[in-house]
Amino acid sequence: MRPQLVFLGAPGSGKGTQAGKLVSELNYSHVSTGDLLRAEIAKKSALGQRVSAIINEGKLVDDQTVLDLLKANCDVSSKQYIFDGFPRNDVQAQMLDEQILGKVQYKVFYFDIDLDLLANRLTNRRTCSSCGAIFNLLTKPVKKEGVCDICSSPLIQRKDDKPETVEQRLNVFRDTVGPLLDFYGSKGDLVKLDATQSFEEIYKNIVSNL
Ligand code: AMP
Repeated sequence: MRPQLVFLGAPGSGKGTQAGKLVSELNYSHVSTGDLLRAEIAKKSALGQRVSAIINEGKLVDDQTVLDLLKANCDVSSKQYIFDGFPRNDVQAQMLDEQILGKVQYKVFYFDIDLDLLANRLTNRRTCSSCGAIFNLLTKPVKKEGVCDICSSPLIQRKDDKPETVEQRLNVFRDTVGPLLDFYGSKGDLVKLDATQSFEEIYKNIVSNL
């Protein structure tokens, strides 16, 4: 059985795009706490209304809220997951270990990239409003402007991909990544990926480490 996967990396470092291929080729399930939170906002649930301003400002939602949402949306006894966007700090890493993964085997991949390269990537990112596919005006343009290549639905720009929020999100990442890498580094579970490589090279690297 393949291990559960934990993807760490700054916003825009390529975690979601790689997860997409692992889902289609290796039958992984992708669980992104950002996607779960955005779905709550779209539903206008009480949780969604509580977190919407926090997310639009590029700040982190409180640990317990995100943990509860994640717990309600995954079952590691029956599926192999890619955890994307959780953990965001060392407290969440401990929660994931103790309250979700337990004794289940897992691997952690860190998408390593100079943060200065990411602001541009993020502000040019576009997401399909229906299937969630990720494109980029500069590096992965769609064939027909404003329309998803896969399902032909309109593309949108995430509110938090606007320039004013991107800087804040990268700063939050910069402030929290150190202890997270120490947590997994000291356990010996961490594989560092060069996130400046091509999509195919990174994918090969992940698969060869499973
Ligand atoms: P993402 O799609 O992973 O970039 O997440 C978008 C936003 O959702 C983040 O900027 C946070 O506001 C919130 N978020 C997602 N995952 C977490 C998490 N594990 N802890 C706290 N906030 C989160």
